[in-house]
Amino acid sequence: MRHNRLALTLALSLAATLGISSLATPTLAANATPDRPRLEADMPQLLQLYKELHLAPELSRMEEKTAARLASELRALGFTVTEGIGKYFSPGYKGYGLVGVMKNGDGPTVLVRADMDALPVEEKTGLPYASTVKVRLPSGQETGVMHACGHDIHVTSLVGTARQLVAMKNQWRGTLILLGQPAEETIDGAIAMVRDGLYDKVPKPDYVIALHDWSGMPAGRVGVTSGPAMAQSTQIDIRVRGVGGHGSAPQTTRDPVVLAASIVMQLQTIVSRSTAPQEPAVLTVGTIHGGTKRNIIPEEVKLELNMRSYNEDTRQTLIAGVRRVARGAAIAMGVPEDRMPEVTVIDAEFAPVVINDPKLNLRVEASLRKVVGAENVDQLPAVMGSEDFGRLGLDGKFPTVMFRVGAVNPAEYAKATAEGTVLPSTHSPLFAPDPEPTLRTGILGMTQVVLDLMPR
Ligand SMILES: [Zn+2]
Ligand SMILES: [Zn+2]
Repeated sequence: MRHNRLALTLALSLAATLGISSLATPTLAANATPDRPRLEADMPQLLQLYKELHLAPELSRMEEKTAARLASELRALGFTVTEGIGKYFSPGYKGYGLVGVMKNGDGPTVLVRADMDALPVEEKTGLPYASTVKVRLPSGQETGVMHACGHDIHVTSLVGTARQLVAMKNQWRGTLILLGQPAEETIDGAIAMVRDGLYDKVPKPDYVIALHDWSGMPAGRVGVTSGPAMAQSTQIDIRVRGVGGHGSAPQTTRDPVVLAASIVMQLQTIVSRSTAPQEPAVLTVGTIHGGTKRNIIPEEVKLELNMRSYNEDTRQTLIAGVRRVARGAAIAMGVPEDRMPEVTVIDAEFAPVVINDPKLNLRVEASLRKVVGAENVDQLPAVMGSEDFGRLGLDGKFPTVMFRVGAVNPAEYAKATAEGTVLPSTHSPLFAPDPEPTLRTGILGMTQVVLDLMPR
């Protein structure tokens, strides 16, 4: 700040000397920074909003109340809001994507995205505002629901950023689009919005930005990654079919439980034996379901797999490996040809690699260094986690950058580091962001990024 004031004083005295009148009423926009006192004044309300969202998490594709709340917050701030974007899923699915647009003169179009969905996790943080929400999944299983990925931090940060930018409207220009995205955890909310005509409803962005809270960093710090940052993600279902019968007469059956167990074990050899060692790859069997009673050999068992990789060859090797293993194991077990396993690659739930555009990333990094201090900006390695955020950039057509915001209480982080203990990661029932410093850093960071991308 002192440097800025000094520069302004110098500019003014130079202007006076040269008699340049236009500099006599200078705008500070090129050096505009967030309004910190206003943020502190807003903080109690923002914390209240965060806690309300945390208490009322909604699963992917069911973000009805969260979306309505975000829409009303943005509308109250003067944004033109369009709701109900993203109707491409199964019939009857409403689509809870929304955008708030604010036109503020000629200038770049910047889109800031916050995802809104929660996870089927039963919260065990013990916090006074811990979620007690329970729902029944389509499978019939009852589950708790929790903002275990911190998307409530994202929604609240978006509202906080909106408040800052509306209050500082004379310090930026262009078109600001704030986007609430459903169904990130099922990795199909962004593409649903795009396919539902998102870019017919709002101007095409010059820059697309998002933040994500991070369980591996103390609150107050941020992290950036240039280039490929998050892996592609592929979902596969295997319907393992057998021939059912009495549990006491296995010779009359082809047991799909044993076959599924065999497939799960053989799948472990695909990454270790079929993909190139220098290419990262992950294959995880996340669910296995089958059977109704202990003395019945069932007709089928269902496996749900998730795979990560960074290149298309590796992805195709994984897919081919899954098909080969499933069929091979079934043949070895004597399953009839018409009962071979059915392997389905779920195209709608594919997420490509998230690439942080290197040029835009440099600008984002510079803004973050300015607002949180260079010593608080980390260079983070690429991870095997995935995101559908890149879809909003139409897979490279518009530059995208996602930065990370530390979410762990700094004292807890220091203690865990000193003791060598592992802190709960996102998606854990114990993940508990320290909301105030996390929100403060997220809002300051995002506000600065937008101000610098839309200078007056
Ligand atoms: Zn997330
Ligand atoms: Zn997540």
